Amino acid sequence: MMTPMAELSEISDTQDQDEAIRSVLIVDDDPILCAVAESYFQNRGIALIRTAENGAQALETLDANSGNFDFILCDLNMPKMDGVQLFRHLKQRDFAGPIVIISGEQETIVSLAEDLAATHELNIVASLRKPLDFGKLDQVIAKSAIPVPKHTGLQTAEITRDDLDRGIKAGEMVVYYQPKIEVATRKIRGAEALVRWNHPDKGLISPAQFVPLAEQCGLITDLTISVLHKVIDDAALWMKFRQNFRISINLSVDVLRDLSFPDKLAEWIDDAGLDRSVFVLEVTESRLLEKDTVPMEVFARLRMMGFDLSIDDFGTGCSNIEHLKEFPFSELKIDKSFVKESSLDPRACASVEMSAALGKKLGLRLVAEGVETVIDWEFVASLGIDEVQGFLFGKPMPFDKLMEWMFDFRSLNGNFSYYPLLKSLSR
Ligand code: C2E
Ligand code: CA
Ligand code: CA
Repeated sequence: MMTPMAELSEISDTQDQDEAIRSVLIVDDDPILCAVAESYFQNRGIALIRTAENGAQALETLDANSGNFDFILCDLNMPKMDGVQLFRHLKQRDFAGPIVIISGEQETIVSLAEDLAATHELNIVASLRKPLDFGKLDQVIAKSAIPVPKHTGLQTAEITRDDLDRGIKAGEMVVYYQPKIEVATRKIRGAEALVRWNHPDKGLISPAQFVPLAEQCGLITDLTISVLHKVIDDAALWMKFRQNFRISINLSVDVLRDLSFPDKLAEWIDDAGLDRSVFVLEVTESRLLEKDTVPMEVFARLRMMGFDLSIDDFGTGCSNIEHLKEFPFSELKIDKSFVKESSLDPRACASVEMSAALGKKLGLRLVAEGVETVIDWEFVASLGIDEVQGFLFGKPMPFDKLMEWMFDFRSLNGNFSYYPLLKSLSR
């Protein structure tokens, strides 16, 4: 379960080059994972990368470098000294840097290790499952504002800032839509716009590969504007034959720091003759907790202008009710990592229940994303969730495919338990 820590918010992502992390220690007994992770950090321009095959070797390496590592990627199950034992030694050495756990262990064991690390007051920012998904690691680094260097190699293996800049200018960003279903009526109620990069050589690239990069290298505003114009064009078409429909858009807090953004957004939407209330603006919970985050004024103005605001990836940050009450949100979106694990992991299940209860208390519309199975659907429906989104109903798809999907879905008359079956038969 992801547990980004509030303390990390002190490391602002507006850091300059001098504050960027320079050294990484990878601790894992799997030599292949070490080699791949090493290459990942090399590509991000990290100057010092060391690997260790167990906790004991990690401590030797740490001591040899006077404890000066900025970031540790750590396995749990290793011979000689495992990750949990290593955590105790890290505490003794007052290691304060961010740590990401990578593990193939069961969720309960990982949760236990996280709890132990928390008692040592270590800075565990996330736990990732093996095989290591570098897109997820990118997201963790971006969301927890771990300051990776800003120069050339900071991007993932093959994506460079210049190429991304070129791609945005060349109009290579495409928007896919994932349907959102209203639980009470079992009808499509809206869709989330999700960007993809249609790269001329590399094909379709997922946002996890380039959105964090865009945020780190100052391209996120250009990227967002390119997405917004496409969404507004699609929405204009949509509204001609479909009313009562909301379109969700992801907005990085980096874009919202621009105080003139709400006015520009309103102008583009008004010029297209669209109703502002059609748009739901999603902002990730964990990034709201950052130091120097978006001024409350921006949220207040967006809300007064008639936009809907949604707190995204809820549960991955550490907001409490007092904090949430300050923001003028209208929707709470429970993170998919809890929803899709809820039938397997009692902690994920409890997290979904607590988020739903909190959202209800605050009078927010509740959305669960990551609904992959009928069991997930039944669980979230039983909690009084208003809308759901997930692979059970449909993956993100191009605009014209969404039109087809809507006709297909309508013909099911709410019997979508058969939907995956129907899709596989029609393939
Ligand atoms: P997100 O906002 O949390 O979007 C939901 C992600 O969950 C999407 O991934 C979607 O495909 C995935 N998802 C939905 N249902 C399920 C499910 O049932 N199971 C699983 N395993 N996954 C599911 P996607 O499209 O790869 O987007 C990843 C992230 O990239 C988004 O996460 C969002 O943070 C970011 N992103 C996408 N488009 C934009 C954009 O235009 N602007 C900004 N700033 N960020 C964007
Ligand atoms: Ca979202
Ligand atoms: Ca989300």
